[in-house]
Amino acid sequence: MVKHILIHYSEIGLKGGNRDFFEKKLICNIQMALGDFDVRIKNIFGRLLLTGEWQDETEVSEKLSRVFGIAYFSFAYLVRSDLESIKKESLRLLKNRDFKTFAVRARRGTKNFPLKSLEIEREVGGYIFESLGDKKVNLKNPDITCHIEIVNDYVFIYFDKIKGPGGLPVGTAGKLVSLISGGFDSPVASWQMMRRGAEIIFVHFHSYPNTSKGSLEKVRELVKILSHYQFGAKLYLVPFLDIQKEIFANAPEKLRIVLYRRMMLRLAEAIAQKEKALGLVTGDNLGQVASQTLENMLAIGAAVSLPIYRPLVSWDKEEIINLAKKIGTHDISAEPFDDCCSLFAPRHPETRADLKEVGGAEKNLNIKEIVEKTIGEIEIRDIGY
Ligand code: ATP
Ligand code: MG
Repeated sequence: MVKHILIHYSEIGLKGGNRDFFEKKLICNIQMALGDFDVRIKNIFGRLLLTGEWQDETEVSEKLSRVFGIAYFSFAYLVRSDLESIKKESLRLLKNRDFKTFAVRARRGTKNFPLKSLEIEREVGGYIFESLGDKKVNLKNPDITCHIEIVNDYVFIYFDKIKGPGGLPVGTAGKLVSLISGGFDSPVASWQMMRRGAEIIFVHFHSYPNTSKGSLEKVRELVKILSHYQFGAKLYLVPFLDIQKEIFANAPEKLRIVLYRRMMLRLAEAIAQKEKALGLVTGDNLGQVASQTLENMLAIGAAVSLPIYRPLVSWDKEEIINLAKKIGTHDISAEPFDDCCSLFAPRHPETRADLKEVGGAEKNLNIKEIVEKTIGEIEIRDIGY
């Protein structure tokens, strides 16, 4: 049987001249998300009508709830556009449901229906009340709400509004390169930028074989989860051990972390140039660890000229953890892993790095050569969703 889903998007509606571009991308992304299902999607007056066949509502629902740009959606019944049909269908659908109190909510997306929203609510509500006898109207806190939405010649009836992830369709903002570790923060930061429309290219630095294969696997799993939100992902695996050895041997101990981070950014910037990405993303969070003071973020960021987006900079840890749970990265991030930066970590890392001092320390490093050598050793993984 052919079924319908009515999809509402919010912010795209504000995009003026670009509206068409955003809507097309959203439709394309929904189709990617529902790849296995045979669906058609049509734009009707600022909403999307998805028509198709499926058995498992939960699976469709889960997939749609990962499509950025969707404000909410509903499994809806399409009925004839006259009051009698609306009354009869509402009653028929409600008869199959278990509830004691109900409300009818009508909304007209276009104004060509002869009755106003309030009149429709009264007419349909009264009819249901009289027909069912034992059910009460409760407008404040009903067990069930019968939504009637009229859009031109279409009339939809639905009962549940399922929240989408909001944001803007992924891919509408261009590309960013995100530095992803195995921790909690960087996967959440990447997700946040995806939610605003950016397509994320992932870069991970590892010290294999001094750090384990399991740690690499963990990052791959994190990217796999995130790939569901942008329908695939590219992961650059960058060997970092030689760079760390060079810094260990030739730079002051307390500056090691700042110097590691500057090298990471330089390599990420080189990848961004190759990928035509417009900026970098990190999971930095003000004050969380020694490398994340304002002084250190300044000294680290100065190594590159691309903008660095740090969507979590002002968040509390608890907020980050809660979002990690919601998007599905928490449990993987919680597993133990060996971070490349804990290798040769200084006993007393600098918390207020001075850019001049950092620049001086880098004069003793063979930066150009090791960057070039490292770029030649990068591995690229395509992660399917
Ligand atoms: P996370 O939870 O993301 O690991 P964190 O709070 O532990 O972050 P740091 O370990 O200081 O903070 O790292 C700061 C940021 O630097 C990370 O959020 C990430 O963007 C980047 N980063 C750190 N280590 C790596 C790595 N091995 N590969 C790629 N990026 C990294
Ligand atoms: Mg970390």
